[in-house]
Amino acid sequence: MIRPTPDFAGDLAARTLNLVNSGLIVLDADQRIVLWNGWMTPRCGRAAARVQAQPLLAVFPELRGSRVEAAVLAALTQDYGGTVPMADNRTPFPLREAGSFDGPRIEQAVTVTPFSQDGERFCLIEIRDVSNTVEREKRLLDHAESLRARSYVDGLTGIANRRYFDVALERELRRAQRLDGQLSLLLIDIDSFKAYNDHFGHQQGDSCLATVAQALAARLKRPADVAARYGGEEFAAILPDTGLDQAERHANAIRDHVMALALAHAPAAHWPMVTLSIGVAAYDRDKLNTPAALIAAADKALYVAKREGRNRVVIHAPAY
Ligand code: GH3
Ligand code: MG
Ligand code: MG
Repeated sequence: MIRPTPDFAGDLAARTLNLVNSGLIVLDADQRIVLWNGWMTPRCGRAAARVQAQPLLAVFPELRGSRVEAAVLAALTQDYGGTVPMADNRTPFPLREAGSFDGPRIEQAVTVTPFSQDGERFCLIEIRDVSNTVEREKRLLDHAESLRARSYVDGLTGIANRRYFDVALERELRRAQRLDGQLSLLLIDIDSFKAYNDHFGHQQGDSCLATVAQALAARLKRPADVAARYGGEEFAAILPDTGLDQAERHANAIRDHVMALALAHAPAAHWPMVTLSIGVAAYDRDKLNTPAALIAAADKALYVAKREGRNRVVIHAPAY
């Protein structure tokens, strides 16, 4: 077996340091650079010989006052090491892709580790290139965000879907309870839509649904109002800070608006144009104080609107 001589071991260690795929800087107790590995050179345009024995802050003046400087001080004076938190700045060292002088800075993870040798204090700064990780993280976050957004949108009509409706109604009901405020719910159903499909075909039925949904959404002006597809040819509107009278006026405006679109209806329908029946209910602290109760109340009113001839708005009354 060949025993490495001390020289050989030293050469091997130096060679290995230059092959490591991250930046290594060792500082002495006066923050002077005593080791600078090969990774650093092409990424900041300075070779070891040029920075040897220079204070770190002379080589990188912009580190003054940074978290990296604070970590180095903690390591050298309090023997405290660890990963430097990068919440606000992921590019503390002016380092770029190897050989690039004007590209974007490398995103970095920096660790500072104190150590002593022959009674002298040093600290090792390790800089890892995490640009790819950061990039991937961003892509994953964007992807998750778009999935989340899509999972709340109805694919056919582009307005909120039932899932969003459920979340929003629950949230607005809690808010109304907390503030002892008002909240109204409209359940909106297209009249004789089966006849529409039978006459014009399912595809035109689909586009009629999208037109009605967009018309509904356009009538709701306040940012907190929610227009949703409740299911099939039924829609819902959640109207925070809105009492029963005002909700009834809203409902009639929506009904008038859709009728004014004059979308031709099937001959078998009650009216020559596409019309809506709307049931209205409002939150009340004692009885209509859960999503299920509020929906059931609006649904009963909607049923009455259908029974009384369609194309009308009916507000919930306890007698229904
Ligand atoms: P009413 O006036 O009592 O509401 O009668 P209606 O015909 O509208 O009600 P019904 O519940 O009998 O029929 C609803 C129709 O809506 C039947 C169904 O095919 C149609 N529908 C539900 N979802 C869709 C959809 O996504 N696209 C299309 N084209 N039609 C749909
Ligand atoms: Mg229906
Ligand atoms: Mg219907």
